[in-house]
Amino acid sequence: MTAIDPDSLAALPRSAGVYIFRGEGTLPVYIGKSVDIRARVMSHLRAPEEAEMIAQTRRIDFIGTAGEIGALLLEARLIKAQMPLFNVRLRRLRSLCAIRLDGDMQTGLTPAMIDSKDHDLATTPGLYGLFASRHAAQRRLRELADQHRLCLALLGLEKTARRGCFGLQIKQCLGACAGLEDRAVHDQRLFSALLDSQVQTWPFAGAVDLVETQGDWVQRHRVSHWRYVGTWCSRTGPQAVADQPEAFDLDSYKILVKPIMLGSACIEPVPT
Ligand SMILES: [Zn+2]
Repeated sequence: MTAIDPDSLAALPRSAGVYIFRGEGTLPVYIGKSVDIRARVMSHLRAPEEAEMIAQTRRIDFIGTAGEIGALLLEARLIKAQMPLFNVRLRRLRSLCAIRLDGDMQTGLTPAMIDSKDHDLATTPGLYGLFASRHAAQRRLRELADQHRLCLALLGLEKTARRGCFGLQIKQCLGACAGLEDRAVHDQRLFSALLDSQVQTWPFAGAVDLVETQGDWVQRHRVSHWRYVGTWCSRTGPQAVADQPEAFDLDSYKILVKPIMLGSACIEPVPT
């Protein structure tokens, strides 16, 4: 048995939106999203590992959305603003780091660290990442070097020595640093290893609206350069996002990159 207000449970809809577990205190206990709020909340209530969270919950509120993208955008915004007790803390990142491959296949590729303080990550082509810090980007490069037998010296992570890098001595590096492996073959492995993490540049000239509808209910989520600007709702009117991120909007990027790049969302350009 739970101490959750039964009326608040009875009111939960079988449609998309965000749900908020509220306890005795001012901070919410938990915030989540689903395309079927009722089913998702019921699965929380049945989960033994969530018993402590449920025990602290007194009522469950919800905010309906016309579709899944709206639910994801709203959830990310509410979690950051309200800091619920049981959500994994989302760290606010002051800046982000990406890897850029400088040079070309003829002269050799060299990874460079690109900071969002100096570059607009939404428009700079050829970036890979993204990372919370320069250190995290370098750590990822080391992992890739390990998996793909790349040369740490050529990646700029180790000093170059005349007889090849340390990795060559322990047979980790295949020897591109000492001319034992063709540099282009090495660089092709580097390029392929990074390809999955390529940052998509904003593919439009300006802002677009992602339109979601449910019957005659329409929500238009305005996005510009991966930055979530706000939602216009046919029921409640405009809702601007007050708390704009300083640099690249990583949360919005993660939510929007697939629906936009795969073309699965209904997208309308905003006239300038
Ligand atoms: Zn080497």
